[in-house]
Amino acid sequence: MDKKTTKRRSAADQDKIVVEALRGVGRPVSAYELIEELRDKGVTAPPTVYRALNRLIEDGLAHRLESLNAFVACNHPHHHTGKAVFAICEACGAVTEFDSETAERSLAQWAKRAGFAVRTMTLELRGQCRTCCAVSARSRSAGG
Ligand SMILES: [Zn+2]
Ligand SMILES: [Zn+2]
Repeated sequence: MDKKTTKRRSAADQDKIVVEALRGVGRPVSAYELIEELRDKGVTAPPTVYRALNRLIEDGLAHRLESLNAFVACNHPHHHTGKAVFAICEACGAVTEFDSETAERSLAQWAKRAGFAVRTMTLELRGQCRTCCAVSARSRSAGG
């Protein structure tokens, strides 16, 4: 008889813990930061975290931001998996997720014409958010 004393969690439990941690942070985090965040929540093994992240991304509950090498919880629980548009502020780091059906549709049409099978579609717009634009406009006019 082998008696397991270690608490084993199901994949679904792990996913839940990981996505809740991501939501709790509320900003994009690297896998490393996420592992740190999960340290006291009972999910510590990096491969476990990576597997959970992959499942969450497949399910559309999280997204990977390639340009930041970071993960973020999805803001749209009902949107189609694997498609998301993000606006990333380079000044304050704010990340806004939004839907752009027009952009998605035109890229899907291109892919269809090119015979390209799309697995995921994550668009990343980089620049300055409204708040940071306002701040730099103010400092420009003040400094003149
Ligand atoms: Zn999303
Ligand atoms: Zn900003």
